[in-house]
Amino acid sequence: MGLNTALLHPPKEKEPCGATLTPIYQVSAFEHSSAEQLEKVFHNQSGGFAYTRISNPTVDAFEKKIAYIEKGIGAVACSSGMAAVSMALLNILESGDEIIASAGLFGGTIDLFRDLEAFGIRTKFVAHITTEALAPLLTERTKAVFCEIIGNPALDVVDVKSVADLLHSHHIPLIADCTTATPYLVHAFDLGADIVVHSSSKYINGGNAISGVIVDNGSFHWDETRYRGSAEYRKYGKFAYLAKLRNGLWRNMGACLSPMNAFLNLIGMETLGLRMERLCDNALALAQFLEHDGRVTVNYPALASSPYAALVQSQFGGRGGAILTLRTGSKEKAFRFVNRLRYAAIATNIGDVRTLVIHPSSTIYAHSDTQQKEAAGVYDDLIRVSVGIEDVQDLIADFRQAIDHIEEE
Ligand SMILES: *Cc1c(COP(=O)(O)O)cnc(C)c1O
Repeated sequence: MGLNTALLHPPKEKEPCGATLTPIYQVSAFEHSSAEQLEKVFHNQSGGFAYTRISNPTVDAFEKKIAYIEKGIGAVACSSGMAAVSMALLNILESGDEIIASAGLFGGTIDLFRDLEAFGIRTKFVAHITTEALAPLLTERTKAVFCEIIGNPALDVVDVKSVADLLHSHHIPLIADCTTATPYLVHAFDLGADIVVHSSSKYINGGNAISGVIVDNGSFHWDETRYRGSAEYRKYGKFAYLAKLRNGLWRNMGACLSPMNAFLNLIGMETLGLRMERLCDNALALAQFLEHDGRVTVNYPALASSPYAALVQSQFGGRGGAILTLRTGSKEKAFRFVNRLRYAAIATNIGDVRTLVIHPSSTIYAHSDTQQKEAAGVYDDLIRVSVGIEDVQDLIADFRQAIDHIEEE
């Protein structure tokens, strides 16, 4: 079954009235026939729902669907991508542990890793997640490596298989943020990733609601001497990680997804394959135009000139995702360019159906110093473009006219 078919025909139970999509179960609590029955639901001895912070049919349908599409054994939906990143890590970490991550991560994740220091969790940053960069840094304290398969906005691409192989020989899990890659480009579990997280606010739903999700494929062995919290969940076998999340931190922190947003994710996902196909085609055509034009410098991983071109070919089948960045020469020119664009919305998001542009240095990375910005591939003259599904000739014409005026005061 191809991705588009799978997105429309995931295994699911028939809705009572034949609804083609799981409806929005917009309630807080679920009523039961007897005290005994509710007791069983509370003790996971019977299916069913008790309280929406813990589980809800619409949220459950979204979790099952993304787990199926990602080839995982289960998923836990969260109120946002940041909640998913936080919960995915805190589910296994304790004070004294170390994470290794790439310096080119999404700005919010970098800020989170700084916040975690107050709880005794340190992060070591490397320029790019490669076996060479990781090998000398792995210690007894390293409990997770966190990467974005395509860094946003650095647009560096991780060779997932080689990195996962190295980490597994040290009994360390690879947690992959697949927001920018999506299952359209890659099935990260097939390459050895252990936990996949998404900000489903982006490509998964197409830009209509904030949400996040954690998916597990159950293959990582959580050694109880290294991951002490896992001992209690050994009885769940390969579901130990998900059971710990559901029964512990995720539930108790209250980072649940609302039924309405789960529904928006379900609708959005139906067109994930179609949107990604169009987005990747548009991004490549726009990148090729910009490179050929030559007046700004463009970075897009699927361009033949990218250092990641070969990896994009082997790992993503030649697709480069929907984000590109360009450098204009100065902040003034970058602003002038952005202000000139007719179709691109000036907005801090990616994965929308419409083209979005932003100047990351003055916005998403405003809290970072110059060194941190450069490590993340953020420069004063850099613009990030999240390419949309518009007709590409219109996008190219728009970008061309904006460049024509870039020198004007
Ligand atoms: C947006 C984003 C996040 C955070 O997601 P929210 O839904 O905004 O909380 C995390 N990782 C990546 C790669 C993102 O693009």
